[in-house]
Amino acid sequence: TSYGFRTVSDGEKQSMVNDVFHKVAKRYDIMNDVMSGGLHRVWKDAMIASLNPPKRPGFRFLDVAGGTGDIAFRIVEASGRQATGTVLDINGSMLGVGRERAEKKGLAANLDFVEANAEDLPFADASFDAYTIAFGIRNVPDIDKALREAFRVLRRGGRLLCLEFSEVEMPLLDKVYDAWSFHGIPRMGEAIAGDGEPYRYLVESIRKFPRQQDFAAMITRAGFSRVRWTNYTGGIAALHSAWKI
Ligand code: SAM
Repeated sequence: TSYGFRTVSDGEKQSMVNDVFHKVAKRYDIMNDVMSGGLHRVWKDAMIASLNPPKRPGFRFLDVAGGTGDIAFRIVEASGRQATGTVLDINGSMLGVGRERAEKKGLAANLDFVEANAEDLPFADASFDAYTIAFGIRNVPDIDKALREAFRVLRRGGRLLCLEFSEVEMPLLDKVYDAWSFHGIPRMGEAIAGDGEPYRYLVESIRKFPRQQDFAAMITRAGFSRVRWTNYTGGIAALHSAWKI
């Protein structure tokens, strides 16, 4: 099955995504380093610098599609271990790895882990100071719905930060990137996880994801204000920032 190249329903899309992350959960962190050449660490650090969580107690964040916890750990550390947060993911295998890592790092007291769908958040309105999502939104079948949920659970004055693969806006780099993502990544997937097909699907999902400006328009449509974005590494990734005011 070459499922990246035909039209699939939302339900099918979600179950393909779930398959990928169940299979890869234990090797996810290594795969990330291999496939991005370590760049994901730089982008994530830049995202946390932009969030700049306060170094005092009381700051509460929600990290959606939080997987193995990378973003949440960074936020807690950047706050001087004062912030508390919820790591939410649809995939119990990814969360399991995240929970173990949190314990090893001594951050378990600051975090809780919730298995749920970004399209349907199990939290009251105005529960969080910040909503973060890194390399997750493009996996969500109904992105508009997820953004409306983000808006709902943020308090007034709250911040949305979304890090995602985006459109490469640098000549030459786009060619190298295409070669790597269409050939290199599925082959690495095959070699490390034993199956290249799910990675072909993920690469395709990057291609289908709206470009910077169009994604900004979607965020605005969900109710957010002051929507901005910053490109990282020529637009391989972009950080979108917005406020609920
Ligand atoms: N944020 C982490 C990071 O940057 O390392 C993990 C990103 S990983 C590429 C994408 C995550 O999105 C996976 O853990 C997957 O289970 C999760 N995911 C996919 N669809 C989701 C949904 N509808 N709701 C919540 N999480 C979802």
